Amino acid sequence: VNTRTPFIAGNWKMNLDHLQAVATVQKLHWTLKDAGHEGDGVEVGVFPPFTDIRSVQTLIDADKIPFALGSQDVSAHDSGAFTGEVSGAFLSKLGVTYAIIGHSERREYHSESDELVNAKVKAALKHGLVPVICVGETAEDLEKFGASAVPVGQLEKALDGVSASADIVIAYEPVWAIGSGQAATPTQAQEVCAVLRAVVGRVLDEDAAARTRVLYGGSVKSSNIASYMREPDIDGALVGGASLVVDEFAAIVRFQK
Ligand code: PEP
Repeated sequence: VNTRTPFIAGNWKMNLDHLQAVATVQKLHWTLKDAGHEGDGVEVGVFPPFTDIRSVQTLIDADKIPFALGSQDVSAHDSGAFTGEVSGAFLSKLGVTYAIIGHSERREYHSESDELVNAKVKAALKHGLVPVICVGETAEDLEKFGASAVPVGQLEKALDGVSASADIVIAYEPVWAIGSGQAATPTQAQEVCAVLRAVVGRVLDEDAAARTRVLYGGSVKSSNIASYMREPDIDGALVGGASLVVDEFAAIVRFQK
């Protein structure tokens, strides 16, 4: 039996200041309510820039909005002389539940290595955050090694030394599909997500493999979300561009309708 709650996560990237963030979360909440959405067994997550988190958290708390809050990154360190970094301790104190780690944009533009991703995963877990571990191959990797070799290697390294009881989320995001409008087919995505679940089984244990949510990300929209959600090893989506358009993101959350 699949007990994994579907998770629709919106990665805003570097978009929306704290005032726009509050307006967006409010509008999303009311759009879902107006549509008669009562949670419907789907977890909704928003991942705003760091500067928005406090404002969004205050709104979510005050209006009892049933969205989980996540950050787009976390420091590998607890505190100290790390200018510009944000500690997982600060994030969890702010009511943050999830932290995206190893997004392809950080791997590419900030040279994040698999070792750093692993250190960040451990730091997130230490501070009670659930890491959303992003893995995925570039177009070049796909041509050279096929779809799963690179994401499998990234995930094995990300999970090195992680406890089997850890609460984690995995996001399979083929780099060629991110922001390109060229989404992976559900069959392609399912294939890699199944392989990644098997990696969790091998590196952690079978119980972890059965309970860990594996998301697909890369040009997800309201018109293709249902086709991914029908796949047995895809438990949700990490949504970039479409998470900034409230009606579109609400329609993705309501993929069952
Ligand atoms: C992302 O950045 O995580 C992502 C999946 O982006 P998009 O949905 O825009 O392809």
